[in-house]
Amino acid sequence: MRIAMISEHASPLAVLGGEDAGGQNTHVAELSAALAAVGHDVRVYTRLDAVDLPVNVRTPDGYEVVHVPAGPAEPVAKDDLLPYMPAFGQWLADRWRTGDWQPEVVHAHFWMSGLAGLAAARRAGVPLVQTYHALGSVKRRHQGAQDTSPPGRIDHERRLGRSVDRVVAQCQDEIAELVRMGVPRPRITVVPSGVNLTTFSPFGPVADGGGRARVLTVGRLVERKGFQDVIRAVAEVPDAECVVVGGPPAGLLEADPYARRLRSLARSLGVADRVRLVGAVPREEMGRWYRSADVLAAAPWYEPFGLTPLEAMACGVPVVGTAVGGLIDTVVPGRTGDLVPAREPAALGAALRALLDDRIRRFAYATAARERARTRYSWATAADRLTELYGEVAAVRRPTRVVA
Ligand code: UDP
Repeated sequence: MRIAMISEHASPLAVLGGEDAGGQNTHVAELSAALAAVGHDVRVYTRLDAVDLPVNVRTPDGYEVVHVPAGPAEPVAKDDLLPYMPAFGQWLADRWRTGDWQPEVVHAHFWMSGLAGLAAARRAGVPLVQTYHALGSVKRRHQGAQDTSPPGRIDHERRLGRSVDRVVAQCQDEIAELVRMGVPRPRITVVPSGVNLTTFSPFGPVADGGGRARVLTVGRLVERKGFQDVIRAVAEVPDAECVVVGGPPAGLLEADPYARRLRSLARSLGVADRVRLVGAVPREEMGRWYRSADVLAAAPWYEPFGLTPLEAMACGVPVVGTAVGGLIDTVVPGRTGDLVPAREPAALGAALRALLDDRIRRFAYATAARERARTRYSWATAADRLTELYGEVAAVRRPTRVVA
């Protein structure tokens, strides 16, 4: 099939280039590669954010990236992109009307891509599939006044959910959230994100250890990822070290206010010598860090999906996580890891201590974690399920809207 992916702010090329990219960049890159690998003709539309970028870029993974001129050709913060979405949608509509390539299905990632995609897909008479990745309602609940999303996000997301042909939820928890928002339940299908089982495997080089039991935690250095809770928890685990991977490059950590807060928290707890901030690690080196860990602690306050627990599992590392979002599906308590309530460092500490004290259970969890990632969360499985879904929505006849 000819599949148009829209990922307005998160270019898959950021992943290939090794820049510090978040979950959506990785998701779109891996998914597009997996769909191309089974014979689909995939184009990913992302915003042109530098003057020197070619319009079309063919990737080694068999799909094409198209840079859409919408807004200034320079980096623009995600929360400031909304005004450029009509131009983005218009450009797509024009391209698909006059160019030599028309999609049979459009798959939008994040709500703003959905807005651009809705206009263009309706005009082209093709179905639109929406993956939100994150929901404004959840962000608002957890971040309150600190939520910098554009006003109207929640209303846009609701309208989108009622207008698109199918919503792909990433986990069971998201279904409840979508239904509460007003998306009709029959329109929602769960297709979890996959994990790259070649990049993330138990076999390969291992980052240096410090001689102590290693609790690894990974992610962008933002408060809602719960790193402060992990540091408090590790303070309760004698002789364990806490390694934090992510954030700005190592040289810039000192200038990062949140990194400084984490360091001062470690000092105030008397564990500065057991807490190490590594900074950003290129994607291809992430496996070394996962493999060096005795356990991955993932303590987000909320998490739309959460790739890092799955990546750790694929490397054969047990996960102690908070029972939120995608972790509720990926981590099986008592089999591949343990789950504790969010924002309860004492519970997290107790779970980490118990697991680090029990080598046999750790080994059993590690084996089951790898097996679960391998059998349930390969990108090939995700591509199969989406191929079926695209086929279903494309089979529904729809009129092409005549554009004045
Ligand atoms: N990651 C990375 N280098 C780092 C920290 C994180 O490549 O220094 C990757 C990590 O391996 C994962 C992604 O960034 O693939 C984070 O995805 P997740 O879903 O955990 O969080 P998000 O950033 O989407 O909130």
